[in-house]
Amino acid sequence: MNRAEIIAVGSELLTPYRLDTNSLFLTEELNRLGIAVVRKSVVADDRQALAAAFREALERADLVVSTGGLGPTEDDLTREAAADALDRRLLLDESVLENIRERFARLGRAMAPNNQRQAMVPEGAAVLPNSSGTAPGLWIETGERAVLLLPGPPGELRRIFAERARPLIERRAGARRMAHRMLRAVGLPESDVDHRVAPIYQSYADVETTILATPEGIEIHLTRWSDDQAESTRVLDELAARIATTLGDAVFSTEGETLDGAIARELQQAGLSVAVAESCTGGIVSSRLTRIPGSSLFFLGGAVCYSNQMKTAWAGVPAELIERHGAVSSEVAIALAEGARSATGAALGLGLTGIAGPGGGTPEKPVGTVHIALAHEGGVREQLILFAGDRERIRRLAAQSALDILRRHLLRARRERG
Ligand code: AMP
Ligand code: MG
Repeated sequence: MNRAEIIAVGSELLTPYRLDTNSLFLTEELNRLGIAVVRKSVVADDRQALAAAFREALERADLVVSTGGLGPTEDDLTREAAADALDRRLLLDESVLENIRERFARLGRAMAPNNQRQAMVPEGAAVLPNSSGTAPGLWIETGERAVLLLPGPPGELRRIFAERARPLIERRAGARRMAHRMLRAVGLPESDVDHRVAPIYQSYADVETTILATPEGIEIHLTRWSDDQAESTRVLDELAARIATTLGDAVFSTEGETLDGAIARELQQAGLSVAVAESCTGGIVSSRLTRIPGSSLFFLGGAVCYSNQMKTAWAGVPAELIERHGAVSSEVAIALAEGARSATGAALGLGLTGIAGPGGGTPEKPVGTVHIALAHEGGVREQLILFAGDRERIRRLAAQSALDILRRHLLRARRERG
């Protein structure tokens, strides 16, 4: 068993209001067992469409996993559709019915007649008890292939998968396993990253390399399928190290750590604290620095100094400086960084000021102009960056750049310490 298809069942998943997330969990779990997910589909609560989806999936894959449509209501038709596709009758399973009755009795509620539907089981199916809901999972073997029906609520699905389905699949999975490594980089455009690393990964024909741009940096995913886990570890370690060397300081993690996490680690190792005075980012930098549990060990505080008055009142930026250079200027960014530092006693102060748009730009200071300053014991570093995009993108990238400036400073400081 090494090829799976996932069918996400539910008409709501075909609207703009709900997204199928169960398949992400299932894909990760199946990959871990050495099973590749070769196709996913989202199908409405429609008996015929569903039965067709099961039939077609069984032609391509040796494991078909569905999520959803096992509820007690009329629109939950996965059981019926799977039975249709496999040409099996649905039979009432007394022990499932008894479990459902008991569950209702325990909760002191009357069982609606509809719930009896959840005790209908395709002939020959194994029942996978659901300890957190009424709909059990179902495991149906057909020749060398198997169909696994799981309920939609993510908590129930995860539990049944872990407790009941995983062992069944594992027994049938081959020796082939997936090994995966993720590197994260920041400060280089996606095309640059690919241009620099393509010659390296192209020489590893058995490794699948995927480069993804995300709002918080670039992810480089390395995947290798093999019977030999030790060999995969060796190959992926080697490739990851070569990529990291080529991209240099742009790479901040080879183990999946986030940028916020990498900064938290560096700050704690160096025993340094940081404070922030930000304007155009409206608190994003402070928010990201406080995502990490235990951030109070290194994050002293942040102020959103949005108006000129607040730049003066909260970060001590002289009104005269703002008057002379404008709120969006190197001078004010530096004063914000120094103000954050001196107001809090932090070792490091970050200051940001910029024009997120869509209005407020001028020929000299167009929308996307952002000044970022970092004040430290030895002085202050300031950078002007021009970002393209809409307001949200400019704000996000400005925060990302400020965090990267902080990270690179910590990296340099670590090297100087030796
Ligand atoms: P069902 O088993 O179809 O009655 O689904 C019950 C609930 O599970 C739905 O209302 C959703 O909230 C959730 N759900 C169903 N399918 C999915 C899915 N593919 N991803 C995430 N949540 C889901
Ligand atoms: Mg449903």
